[in-house]
Amino acid sequence: MNDVKLALLGSQGAGKSAVLVRFLTRRFIGEYASNANSLYHKRLSIDGRQLNLEVFDPCSQSSEVRCILEEPVDWADGFVVVYNISDRSSFINAKSILRQIREARTDSCKGDSDVPVCLVGNKQDLCHVRQVREDEGRSLAQETRCHFQEVSAAESYQDIAGLFTRLIRQVMEH
Ligand code: GDP
Repeated sequence: MNDVKLALLGSQGAGKSAVLVRFLTRRFIGEYASNANSLYHKRLSIDGRQLNLEVFDPCSQSSEVRCILEEPVDWADGFVVVYNISDRSSFINAKSILRQIREARTDSCKGDSDVPVCLVGNKQDLCHVRQVREDEGRSLAQETRCHFQEVSAAESYQDIAGLFTRLIRQVMEH
């Protein structure tokens, strides 16, 4: 049985919990009040392989990845970095988080600056009030060697399931 540990990072309000809950339950939970760090467990089967998925969803509002992750940054095998396409400041924060992940993993005992990361532009349903163009997300992902996907936790399960499955496969091959 493989263990896969993922961490979700991004600005408060970007929709991290909504994205994760959508993946785990297929449902959209409109208001998800959490003021504690949460660790979710799920057993999955991907490509016929059983695995234990653990996902860390921190409640911290710090912009420092090392402060957000109470566990060392090298606890995670992969990262999902979420921003809100209708909030430019969350995109700027995502940029900083991506840089910090790459730097921290270069310095960590794992020494794997190429740790799998997925950049997620959430709230695609709010594209009429979009502040971040899709090509900006794609360029940032290219620069930082991430997969990129725009999603709407409010409206769709399929894209979110796809991005988690892809990331988990990448982790298992890493
Ligand atoms: P977190 O702080 O990053 O975990 O963000 P939450 O998951 O708590 O979501 C913050 C707010 O954004 C909540 O009111 C959610 O209902 C809302 N939200 C999350 N995802 C979406 C989405 O895809 N579209 C819209 N319109 N609202 C969303």
